[in-house]
Amino acid sequence: MILSEAHVNDRFEDHYLTIYQVGGHVVLQLCFLLAAPEIGFTFLSVVFLIFGFGALRMTSRQALIAWTLTIAGMTPVFLFSQTPIGMPVATPVERIAAMLSFVLTIGQCAFVGLYGSSMRKMLYDRSSELKAANKRIEELAELDELTGASNRRSIMRALDEEIDRAGRTNAPCSVALIDLDWFKRINDAYGHPTGDEVLRTFAITMFANIRSIDRFGRYGGEEFLLLLPDMNTDRATRALDRLRMIVADLDWSAFSPGMKVTMSAGVATLRPAENPDTFLARADSALYAAKARGRNRITSA
Ligand code: GH3
Ligand code: MG
Ligand code: MG
Repeated sequence: MILSEAHVNDRFEDHYLTIYQVGGHVVLQLCFLLAAPEIGFTFLSVVFLIFGFGALRMTSRQALIAWTLTIAGMTPVFLFSQTPIGMPVATPVERIAAMLSFVLTIGQCAFVGLYGSSMRKMLYDRSSELKAANKRIEELAELDELTGASNRRSIMRALDEEIDRAGRTNAPCSVALIDLDWFKRINDAYGHPTGDEVLRTFAITMFANIRSIDRFGRYGGEEFLLLLPDMNTDRATRALDRLRMIVADLDWSAFSPGMKVTMSAGVATLRPAENPDTFLARADSALYAAKARGRNRITSA
């Protein structure tokens, strides 16, 4: 305690100074044993307790060192001396005293055991918390902060996966590049914070109206990428047109009177052996065509 209060222990890698505590206590018990060999059993049983405590913190190397030193200390006491080591049990008082000594030591062993299991529980709780935190970090690293949609990195990875899957299973795979119409005007007219709210509401609306196997991510600014596995051009175009109508029909005036928000999208369906770049480029030119034809519409590549 004195060393701990003086912060001497802080200078050591093991703040508990386990090996020194174990070593010091064993030496002390052996000194007691030599001083009062007639009740030597008491001090020997305490050595068990000391190791029981040490085992909770010692590394295997430290345990080996502590054990070797203990053997070195016990050898002269047991082998090179004639000192009788006793457990007095001749009278009832002696028997009671011997029993009490054991009972106390065993009680202390139980306490050390409880301490050990509480440490284990604490470690278990910590690791559960850490796992949950890591999972959350991983989730956050995949999400776009503003909209909660997948971020660009994540949606591009999902696109690669879907292309691989479609190649393996021969199932169709479509994508839609979605862009909000005249979004700069919305920012200019209602302010950037309201623009952000519009993006958020748009993303929530998308999530509420796509299938669980679809993936929706923010491609950049007010441009989003929707992955539609198992959908051919026809079904994808119809699905997008439905989404387009839902967005257009939403009561945007709740944000600001008179506000209207619409989207345009370019749909493309994967061709055999097509790479992600050309796949997206086709969706992008379809989007460009939708814009050119007057916006608030879906065009397929
Ligand atoms: P178009 O119909 O041709 O798509 O017109 P547009 O105004 O939407 O096109 P443009 O790409 O020129 O403008 C996109 C605007 O989106 C510009 C930028 O200020 C805005 N924007 C991009 N990211 C964000 C964002 O995170 N928050 C807000 N509020 N605005 C954003
Ligand atoms: Mg736009
Ligand atoms: Mg844009």
